[in-house]
Amino acid sequence: MHFKYPPNEDLRRLLRFEPDSGAIWLGDRRMVLMHTMAMSALRQDLITSVGAEHARRILTRMGYAAGMCDAEYARKTRPDMTLNECFLVGPQLFMLEGAAHVTPVKFTLDIENGDFYGEFNWDHSWEAYAHQQKYGVGTDPACWTLLGYASGYTSAFMGKLILFKETLCAACGAEHCQIIGRPIEEWPDGEAHRVYFNDDSLMEKMETLQLQVDALKSKMEPANLGGQLIGHSKAFRKAYTLMQKVAQTQATVLLTGETGVGKERFARALHELSSRADKPFVAVNCAALPAELVEAELFGVEKGAYTGAHTQRMGRFERADGGTLLLDEVGELPLAAQAKLLRVLQEGEIERVGGEATRKVNVRLVAATNVDLQQAVLAGRFRADLLYRLNVYPICIPPLRERKSDIEPLAQNMLLRFCALHSKRVSGFEERALQALKQHSWPGNVRELENLVERGVILASQSGLVEVENLFPNQPDAVQTSLDAHGHLAKLPSAHDTDLCARILDSGKALEDIDALVLDLAVGRARGNLSEAARLLGMTRPQLAYRLKHRQPRGPTSDATDLRSETATL
Ligand SMILES: [Zn+2]
Repeated sequence: MHFKYPPNEDLRRLLRFEPDSGAIWLGDRRMVLMHTMAMSALRQDLITSVGAEHARRILTRMGYAAGMCDAEYARKTRPDMTLNECFLVGPQLFMLEGAAHVTPVKFTLDIENGDFYGEFNWDHSWEAYAHQQKYGVGTDPACWTLLGYASGYTSAFMGKLILFKETLCAACGAEHCQIIGRPIEEWPDGEAHRVYFNDDSLMEKMETLQLQVDALKSKMEPANLGGQLIGHSKAFRKAYTLMQKVAQTQATVLLTGETGVGKERFARALHELSSRADKPFVAVNCAALPAELVEAELFGVEKGAYTGAHTQRMGRFERADGGTLLLDEVGELPLAAQAKLLRVLQEGEIERVGGEATRKVNVRLVAATNVDLQQAVLAGRFRADLLYRLNVYPICIPPLRERKSDIEPLAQNMLLRFCALHSKRVSGFEERALQALKQHSWPGNVRELENLVERGVILASQSGLVEVENLFPNQPDAVQTSLDAHGHLAKLPSAHDTDLCARILDSGKALEDIDALVLDLAVGRARGNLSEAARLLGMTRPQLAYRLKHRQPRGPTSDATDLRSETATL
């Protein structure tokens, strides 16, 4: 080594060992003496757990911080020396601290103009040695901590970001390491290196990525495999098995069930399980289309077919070509559109509105309805011949109240999706909330559950549980559960219920009379429709009929007489 450093006594004096107080000092900064073996183990752990790129970033920043600290001593210890001799405090401390031996090859600096160029060789880099010990001779320079130090020291010394790069490294089999430093803007790829000095949290980055992945998953979910349909109840499995069996065929499927049971999701699952899975799935809600546009939407339109048809447009049938078309709420189609739909089903070709030419389409039709199409046929609102065409393979999707055991797994799955969607961390449902979900009657079915869970996630406190009040904020009385005498969760009468019972007692009426009055009121409200009255009373129609038939005759009210005659014909 030909280079002649200034004597380093001034620097050695900075270093003090104080075993009595358990400290080592460099000037007024505390240091530790660490085993390179330990540093090497830390390095390896970092590489294993966060990957080489992030490990490099973390170690570069650690070295950078050390270099910045050491730069403070440059002028403090050599106030009367030349700028170059001041600068050499860095390399000399670097050697004193045991990082590597530094030989300046060439360096020029001008603080006022911000000019810097430095070229140094390192021998015996501890880091190159440690890296090579673990990973063998590599292709990429590995002195990340040391290079961070060089950048940190020089940047603090110059008052601007000086980026050092390692052009040769002993870890790659070179005789020694070689580093070159310049202001970051003078490196053509300098900006790309800036990330090594930026403050960033890996955890934050990973959490953000995880949220993005979850959100993507939740977006993809409806189009996902049929396996995404959740349910193990008997009622659900029956419908699911029917769907699985028909999926591979080309048969038209009619999905029936109450509003919100998940007919569209079923249709998507059917599509995904079919041989058409890689072709489009197109869903149309017939009830949502204005009557005058239904045909244009379904079959397409030629330019100028009607006022406002400025361009020709493909219909849903054409867009679904090769795939599956779901006609939701098919019972709402106007009769004219029904006739045209029937023709498409018979001929397998469509004609755009305002056009003459016919186009072949290959579409698997799935129709869905929540109304009784037989009734609609009787009422003259639906074509009987179209119903026969659609009703080849009916699948009835059960309402949620008939698959109570599915409520919890469904709710848990929705919770995950909405947490991802709203970037919120909620750890689950409180026990009372789960009880309330199970006790609810779910007139709106799965869609209602989905709305409730989404609201619950939004209202729940961060990192907390969804509480019953988050799910049912406006009806606290409806779902009151509490601990019973045995310490089990039980539904206790609400204050409202207790009040009602007190009023009944105070009325002095016999329980039987009250019973009769309530039955009559329900039947009256249902305008004599027994099924509806039974629903209001929370019983089945036969149960209601039985009770009406067997009760003690009361005064001849017209309602009661009519009803008895009706029940007699059951
Ligand atoms: Zn190296």
